[in-house]
Amino acid sequence: MKMQKIIDRETKRIIEKVRSEILGFYNLYRLDLDSLCRHLGISLLEGEYEDENVSGALTKNDGYTIVINSNHSLPRKRFTIAHELGHYYAIENGSEIAKEFMEQNGNLIKDYLVVNRSDKSEIDENNYQVERQANMIGASILMPDEMVKSLVNENLDIPEMAIKFGVSESAMSYRLKILNFDPMETLYS
Ligand SMILES: [Zn+2]
Repeated sequence: MKMQKIIDRETKRIIEKVRSEILGFYNLYRLDLDSLCRHLGISLLEGEYEDENVSGALTKNDGYTIVINSNHSLPRKRFTIAHELGHYYAIENGSEIAKEFMEQNGNLIKDYLVVNRSDKSEIDENNYQVERQANMIGASILMPDEMVKSLVNENLDIPEMAIKFGVSESAMSYRLKILNFDPMETLYS
């Protein structure tokens, strides 16, 4: 799809830019999300959600606020923060779809564990692209490709890598798949 290609190129540009800005925020492999949010002037809060499927949200008022579901595990919370930062970086670096999406939703982006994609309306397509973009940026800052490559070269397995990056094993294996490392091969090598 053409739209997807244009957005992917834009997302890649944003990831390249962000990568150089956040190099100082890693403790070895683990991105210090608290310090990064503080540096960016983003308030980071935990909230009680009645709906367990709510991962968190990004709001934009005088400044940005990220709220994460306090009942979730630490790796899950970290992934949510990185995902919300993905929305933030997209909006702040000129992604039109991200900006429009934020405005259309009254300056609130709320994220769910399960995204219902059964309805293929135009709004859902935009929603899907915006979420995909945030996921790509989020995964790239939590598990930068160069760092993943170096750990693969050191023959670490998925659980070991997941601990280094502070992510879940499923997020780790998905990242390896995206970067064209075969998770099974990595696991058993
Ligand atoms: Zn999102």
